[in-house]
Amino acid sequence: MSISPSAHPIERLEPTQRTLRRAQYEAFEFELVAQGVLVRNASHANPEDHEYLVTIEDGLPHSCPCPADKHHQGACKHRVAVAIRTSVLEAARNAQRIRELEVCGLQATANPPAP
Ligand SMILES: [Zn+2]
Repeated sequence: MSISPSAHPIERLEPTQRTLRRAQYEAFEFELVAQGVLVRNASHANPEDHEYLVTIEDGLPHSCPCPADKHHQGACKHRVAVAIRTSVLEAARNAQRIRELEVCGLQATANPPAP
């Protein structure tokens, strides 16, 4: 079965069943930041030690600096946690779009036409 571009983001991340389950039941907190979404796992006693910046690219949670994302196949639970919460993903995508517009605007004014 091929995956169409309109498929839900989760289908393109190809998480394992275990990752998918943990992404659903663990108490994640999300914060929109300039580079993407800061994912904090409030299931831990020290949530600030379990905080990862998930970057968004192409409308998908693209990368996470956690060890699991590096060493295991498929997306880590942080990326999946963002992907399955469409409101979080949508907000991050919108924020990214706005930033891109701002960058374009800044470049336009940084290079004014010569008099
Ligand atoms: Zn991760």
